[in-house]
Formats: sequence, structure tokens, C-alpha cells
Amino acid sequence: MQVDIAIVGAGPAGLCFARSLAGSGLRVAVLERQPHASIAAPAFDGREIALTHASRRILDDLGLWARIDPEQISDLRDARIIDGDATDGLTITAGDGRRDQLGWLVPNHLIRQAAFDTVDGLDDVELLCGVGVSGIVHRSGGVDVMLQDGRTLGARLLVAADSRFSEVRRMLGIGARSRDFGKRMLVCRVAHEKPHAHVAWEWFDYGQTLALLPLNGHRASVVLTLPPQQMREVEALDDAAFAADMQRRFRDRLGTMTTIGTRHVYPLVGVFADRFVAGRAALIGDAAVGMHPVTAHGFNLGLQGQARLAAEIREAAAAGRDIAGERMLRRYDRAHRSAAWPLFAATGLVASLYTDDRPSARLLRTATLRIANRLAPFRRAIAAHLTQGGAAK
Ligand SMILES: Cc1cc2nc3c(=O)[nH]c(=O)nc-3n(C[C@H](O)[C@H](O)[C@H](O)COP(=O)(O)OP(=O)(O)OC[C@H]3O[C@@H](n4cnc5c(N)ncnc54)[C@H](O)[C@@H]3O)c2cc1C
Repeated sequence: MQVDIAIVGAGPAGLCFARSLAGSGLRVAVLERQPHASIAAPAFDGREIALTHASRRILDDLGLWARIDPEQISDLRDARIIDGDATDGLTITAGDGRRDQLGWLVPNHLIRQAAFDTVDGLDDVELLCGVGVSGIVHRSGGVDVMLQDGRTLGARLLVAADSRFSEVRRMLGIGARSRDFGKRMLVCRVAHEKPHAHVAWEWFDYGQTLALLPLNGHRASVVLTLPPQQMREVEALDDAAFAADMQRRFRDRLGTMTTIGTRHVYPLVGVFADRFVAGRAALIGDAAVGMHPVTAHGFNLGLQGQARLAAEIREAAAAGRDIAGERMLRRYDRAHRSAAWPLFAATGLVASLYTDDRPSARLLRTATLRIANRLAPFRRAIAAHLTQGGAAK
């Protein structure tokens, strides 16, 4: 088997990248460890992905947005950040970014579904499922990807999109800064009595972090972050006891809660690859940067990165240049690194400070939010960051 580009990982980043390359004249293969059925009809995984205006524009351009049921897309108008026992907090409003809303919430499995549907059946994109990678061999002008079933896939460029725990990244000899936050994050849909007005909450409470992601109707996804032992106790609750526990944790601010979805728990590990490229290879999505979800930026960043790399490749192919040229790969590395590092570093700082319950840290937490709340330019800068990227179609 010989293709121009081999992508490892048919997650949202890998499939969006394949879609971005479709029609470029290049032959693409996407390798996925999971069986075809799991990729063709992804199961609900509890993640509600907050998408920025720039991400919506990319998803529109790739033809994904139109494939997502509008009723499953929830408006994200404003965001409120609350510290400890406070009842109010820092509010980032869409108006600060001169828009009607900060972004949208879309279930992750529907993004994956739409991404699969846009590549399924394309002549120039082949999906090979149910097979992992056992090794990589560099040869002149290309890379041989050894598959676990004994086959070999030759490619001019190898792109790793195989998650933050990327095996391909390791096979390429690329190291990564990895930080285990030592906590677990639970996500679950609930119905609640009082309206949320489409405002997302990030509540850095003492001993726990809560988030509320507003879904259409009186529904939301609640997000709870706890150390593993405490999380096991929450996981063991039945649905009614879980809803009561969440209602108590949210101090009844949304009234009665009822569990309406399944619970999903994720480990909290942040990863930043030392390099995003190697000889005839590049990393995209979480394989390059695996963000802590607290600032809801992982996939937004992954989408930007894949678009950047795809644009470089398309330009090289159209000009008859090498699609894995060193200078071109370095350009991608530089551009994506400088977009990703400030966000990654800031997210790590926020996650560390706002889960530190020592008295000195509590003072700093409160003071920082108060100052930020009074600084209109700061609030505007965040709103502008989320809403930049041009009006969505
Ligand atoms: C609870 C939670 C909430 C989040 N909320 C947001 C949010 O609001 N906004 C946002 O922008 N981001 C959010 N994220 C981040 C977002 O989900 C990820 O950034 C995104 O899923 C990364 O996509 P990916 O394709 O790079 O990796 P993944 O989704 O991890 O997909 C990787 C794919 O590669 C496959 N694979 C792995 N190893 C191999 C191998 N060796 N061979 C072949 N295939 C392999 C896997 O089976 C999988 O299909 C959140 C994450 C979590 C956990």
C-alpha cells in the first residue's frame, strides 16, 4: 500500500485533517485502532465541546457544520467564572467581543460523526480501521508505517493524530512535557429547574471544581473535578443520588436537578510535544498539544493546527514542491507552537492556582478575579479571542 499522506488516528483532528486535504490531488489513508463501527457511528462520550467563532468557520468550510443537527447545537452566550463561596464572579460577555454569543456547544460524538460522514466514500481518502501501528521506518523520500496486522503502508508524509498519549509521537522520537494534574473530571447531562440563560459557569470552589455547560432547554452538562478517591464515591452513586449530590454541590443555585445522561470520567493530563514535526512527519490535534479542558481549547486549537498544516501541504502540492519539505514543516511547527504555547501555559497556571486551597492561594485567587473583573480591556481581550475569526455563515 502506498499513499501520499498517512494519518494515524481517526479522531476529530485526524478526520478533519483528511477532509481538509480532500480534492488536493493527494492520496490519503487514515489508520484507526478502533473498529470501523465505532468510527462510523461514534457513541456519546459526555463531552460537550465549546467551539469558538473561528472553529465554526473552519467546520463550515469543511462541510461539517451543516451536518450537525441544529437542535443539538447550544448557544454559549456568556461565561461566568466564580471563586470559592462567591455568588458572583468575573463575567465574560459576548458583547465584550461585539457578538451575540461567545460560541457554541456541540456534543463531541456529533463532531466525530460529521467528520466521518464528510470523508466517508471520498475517492482520495481511505479509512483503515481496527489496526494499530507497530513501527515506523524512514526511507528515502518517505516513511513506511508497519501495521500490527503485518501489512506496511508507505507514505511521503506521516501525520500523527493519535491522542495526547500518542504512540506514534514516541516512535518518531519526539518527547513531550506531560503533566498529570492528579484529578479526574466527570461529565454528565442533567435537567434543572431554574434557567441558565445560556451562560457557562466555571466555578473554582474549595475542594472541587465545577462547571456548567448550558444546553438547549433547562438542561446542562455538569462537570465535576475531584481527586480520584472522592470521584470513585461519586461514580458509585445511583442516578437519583448523583443528581442530589450535584444539586448540593451547586448550592441549589439551579434548583432541583435530575440526571438525564450517562456519566463519563476522564483523567486530567496535559501534554505539550517538544516538537510538532520530525523528518517527513508532523503531529496534529492532541498528539501535539493535549490541553487541560478547563479553558475548553483543545479541539479549537487542534482544528486551527490541522487547517494550518493542510494549507501548507496544499500550497506545496499545487506548486509541485515536496509535501513533506523540511522548511514547510518547520513553518507549521513555529506557527502552531506560538499559537498553542501561551494558551497551554495560561491554562496550566489557571488549573494550578484555582485548585490550590491554601489560605495564601485563596487570597490570590480572589484578588486576581476581582482585578480581572474591573479591567474591561482584559475582559474584552478574552471575548475577542473567543469570537475572532469572522462572522460564521
Ligand atoms: C471532558 C473533556 C472536555 C473537553 N471539552 C473541550 C471543549 O469544550 N473545547 C475544546 O476545544 N476541546 C475540549 N476537549 C478536548 C477535545 O476533546 C480534544 O482536544 C479532541 O478530542 C482531540 O482530538 P484528537 O483527534 O486529537 O484526539 P482523540 O479525540 O483522542 O482521537 C484520537 C484517535 O486516535 C486513535 N488512536 C489512538 N492511538 C492509535 C494508534 N496507535 N493507532 C491508530 N489509532 C490510534 C483513537 O482511537 C482515536 O480515535 C475536551 C476534552 C475532555 C476530556
